[in-house]
Amino acid sequence: MTDDAPTAYEAHYCPRCGTETDEKHVDGRPRCWCPECDVVHWRAAVPVVGVAVVDPVAGSVLAFKHDRTGKFDLPSGHQELPEAAAETAARELREETNLAVDPAALDLFDVTVKEHPLGRYNFSTTFVVPRSEATGEVEPETDADVVEWMTPSDASAREDEFVPGVLDVIDAAVDVVDAARDPAP
Ligand SMILES: [Zn+2]
Repeated sequence: MTDDAPTAYEAHYCPRCGTETDEKHVDGRPRCWCPECDVVHWRAAVPVVGVAVVDPVAGSVLAFKHDRTGKFDLPSGHQELPEAAAETAARELREETNLAVDPAALDLFDVTVKEHPLGRYNFSTTFVVPRSEATGEVEPETDADVVEWMTPSDASAREDEFVPGVLDVIDAAVDVVDAARDPAP
């Protein structure tokens, strides 16, 4: 029998008993398994929440370079319960870029799985908001080395500097804000 034991990172040793893990075919593919506990350590994505702040005039999105990973990402982080997702997005925006926004002004627009540079997967919920809804001056704050406004083409030209998967979200965020300003007849 197998048990339900999700892990964020690939487990080389059993998180429960410390035994070296092995592979076992479960539901058609190899899974990380502890022979001692007879437990499958399922890989699970870590929930994170972020926000794309869009300047619709410049067609740009605010991105920041994380001081630990050295990669650009949207302002984002872990949802600390009992925060609502929009509250997390607003807090992370403030902590990383110094911009303040009312969580009620954020629109949910993207849910995706992104590969994190440190070897796990993030299940990422992203909100979008126009720059006009945010107050304050942009400055790198906690966890941020650099904060930059980037158009989708600026970002594509520097793809190697980004967390995989973020470029598509930046593209989509600009389109969403454009569509909201200029509704099709
Ligand atoms: Zn074990």
